[in-house]
Formats: sequence, C-alpha cells, structure tokens
Amino acid sequence: MSINPDSLIMYTPDFIKQFRAQFPFYQNQTDKPISSVYLDNAATTHICQPALDAINHYYQFEHANVHRSSHPLAIGASNQFEAVRQQTAHWLNAIDKNEIVWTKGATEAANLIAHGLSKVHIKAGDEVIISLAEHHAHFVTWQQLAKYYNFNLKVVSLTQDLQIDLAHLSHLINPKTKAIAFCHVSNATGVIQPVDAILQLIKPHKQIVSIIDGSQAVNHIPINIQALNCDFYFFSAHKMHAGTGLGVCYGKQSWLNALPPYQFGGEMVKHVSLDDTQFNQLPFKFEAGTPNISAVIAFGATLKFLTQFQWQKIKVYENELMAYLLNELEQRKSINLLADDHLVGAVSFTVKDMHCKDASDILSQMGVALRAGSHCAMPLIQAICPQGSLRVSICGYTSVEDINYFLFCIDELNEFL
Ligand code: PLP
Repeated sequence: MSINPDSLIMYTPDFIKQFRAQFPFYQNQTDKPISSVYLDNAATTHICQPALDAINHYYQFEHANVHRSSHPLAIGASNQFEAVRQQTAHWLNAIDKNEIVWTKGATEAANLIAHGLSKVHIKAGDEVIISLAEHHAHFVTWQQLAKYYNFNLKVVSLTQDLQIDLAHLSHLINPKTKAIAFCHVSNATGVIQPVDAILQLIKPHKQIVSIIDGSQAVNHIPINIQALNCDFYFFSAHKMHAGTGLGVCYGKQSWLNALPPYQFGGEMVKHVSLDDTQFNQLPFKFEAGTPNISAVIAFGATLKFLTQFQWQKIKVYENELMAYLLNELEQRKSINLLADDHLVGAVSFTVKDMHCKDASDILSQMGVALRAGSHCAMPLIQAICPQGSLRVSICGYTSVEDINYFLFCIDELNEFL
C-alpha cells in the first residue's frame, strides 16, 4: 500500500470524538478494568446509544408482536418493523423492500440461501465455486450441502495479495457451475475482494447465482446493490453498531420467489389445510415465527444515526487511521503482515518468534482486545499461516490514541521475546 506521509493523522478529530461519545461502552472508560482498547470490531461492534434507546422504548411503550393482531399496539409495531425494512432497502439501494429478509444473522442468511439453492437450482453432479477466503458461515454451509446433495464444491484460490484469483476463477467456470459464493471483504485478512470484476466475469453465464457475504464490508464500504447487481448479499446487524440476533439477507425477487421456505411455522403461511400449506408472499415466506422485533427497530435507529453522523465522512477518517496503523506496523521488524494492500477495517499479522495466542494473551493483560487464531476461516489460515494470526480491527469510533496504545503494547511484546 502506498502511503503519503502527509496524509497520516496524528490526532483524533473532534467529529470522531463526538461519534464515539454516542457509544455507552466508551462512557465511564475509567471504570473499565480490562479490554478498554477495543480492536476486535470485526468480531462485533459496540452498539450505539440510539439503538439501545430504541430497544428500551420499544419494550417499555410499544411492545407487541408483528403481523398478527389488529389492536393499535400491534399495528404500530408492524408499521415500525416494515418501515425499517424499507429503510434498509434504501440504505442498500435495493429496488424493493420485499427483497430484504430478516434472519437471525449472517450465518442463518448463508444457510437460507444455500439450502434453498441446493433444493431448486443445483443438481447432483453440478458445481459450486467458493473462495478460499470464506468465513466458516459460508464455507462449512456449502461444504456440507455439497456432501448431502452430491454436488461438487470447487475452491477458487487467492493471489499473492490474498484477493480471489480471477484467472483461476475463469478456469473453474463451466456449464455445470451453478453458484459462486464469496465475501466482499475477508474477515481473516481484511482484504477487499474484486467483487465487480468477479460479477463481470460470471455475467455471461446466466446459470451462475452470485452470493456475496458482506459481513465485513457493510460497516466500511457503502453498498449499492443495484450497481453491484449480485443475486444475494447478506450480513449481520451487529457488525455495524446495532444489536446481535439480526441478519439482513438481500435477494433478487426472482430468486427469492424461486427458493422454497427455509423454515416452517407461523406467519410464513397464507393458508393451511390438513394436507397442505400455501406459503405467504415475500418476504414473509422466509420469516417463520416471531422475529427479533426489537433488533429490527434498533437497526433502524442505527441507520438513522449513521446517516445523521455523515457516515461517509467517518469512513474517510477510518481509511486514514488504517493507513497510519499499516505504516506503523510495516516499520516494525518483529511484525509480518499477512496482506498490506486492498485492506479495509482489519489487518492481520504475526509477531516474530511468538505464537499468536501468547501475543494476544499478553496484549489482553495490557488492556488491548483483539482476535488471535484462525478467525473462523480455517481453510484460509491453514493455507497461508498455519500457526494462526493476530487481527486488529478498527471502525469509526476507534481513536488515534487507541492505535497508539496498541502500538506501544506491540513494542512492549519485544520484552517478552
Ligand atoms: N461472514 C463473515 C465474513 C463474518 O465475519 C462473520 C462473523 O464474524 C459471519 C459471516 C457470521 O456472522 P454471524 O456470526 O453474526 O452470523
């Protein structure tokens, strides 16, 4: 990565301090005994105050189930719930709110898509391409379904800079290829994948369904679904300052209509007789049972909050902070970066002569929270760094002081070598 030294930031700007002040985790910092320098944002981000307020308000004053009863409280909850679906479609620039299915997380979205396609689109003997960079949510799901349904899983390799290898991808594609599943950004390395080039490459092959795991992209890169023109895109709300237990699964209407329901139960039905069931329309066909209503409402509050705080401006700061962090890590002889280009949000590295778990234990004791190991991406880590790596992941509220303290702790690790 080429870094202009003049662009390196040295102080946390005031608007970032104001943004950070909206996260209860950062209030009363002095009361926090451990892990106050939180650099594990790829695992989960802290929830913002507006999302917490929305959860409280919903449970205190507006709590009712959605799409069932007709009393005013229930109608109010249903309207709010659907308004957030619309808001999410707008945030992603999807055509229609019915293309947004709520799931309990990215993992459930990956399963919903893969199970559905395995039933109606992929036949025994067909092929599905998955990238080596996938999180287990994507990788294991497709691996296990390939065994169950007897189709073949082809793994597309990565280039030296850990991006999906387009030449290898092109070589793998053939008339039997029915789907390609890949991440927008790798959770293990922070590397942005060439999504546009991949989608361009598969475009002439109409039988190939494109599925993008956007979990590590949504909090760092503006997503324009219509411009991307992929078939499916999914992520978890907790990766972008909302609560846990909520996933967003975007699918083109034609594909969502073609897929069978993933789960059965209440609300996903139109009519039930003794012998058969007529399923509900989109998106309810995929939302069996009581959904995570408060998490949806909190997600709406988060999107509003991010818009009001000029999310794009925060992203510029975040990229500068990443450049600063990379530049500093690159200067340290004891550090070996897994990738140093096309990075967003996270950087993965090893410390010379120290196991990543030992390094993370020492850093934890010094109050730095980050992740060590294989990052739920064992196939990738086994291939490029079998001993595992450390991953430091930032987001909009990460301060320059956080990074400086982390760098100080990295230097202190030398004392243990
Ligand atoms: N995909 C990626 C790239 C991830 O980083 C994660 C979580 O870390 C997931 C999928 C799974 O998300 P969840 O555990 O919220 O379902």
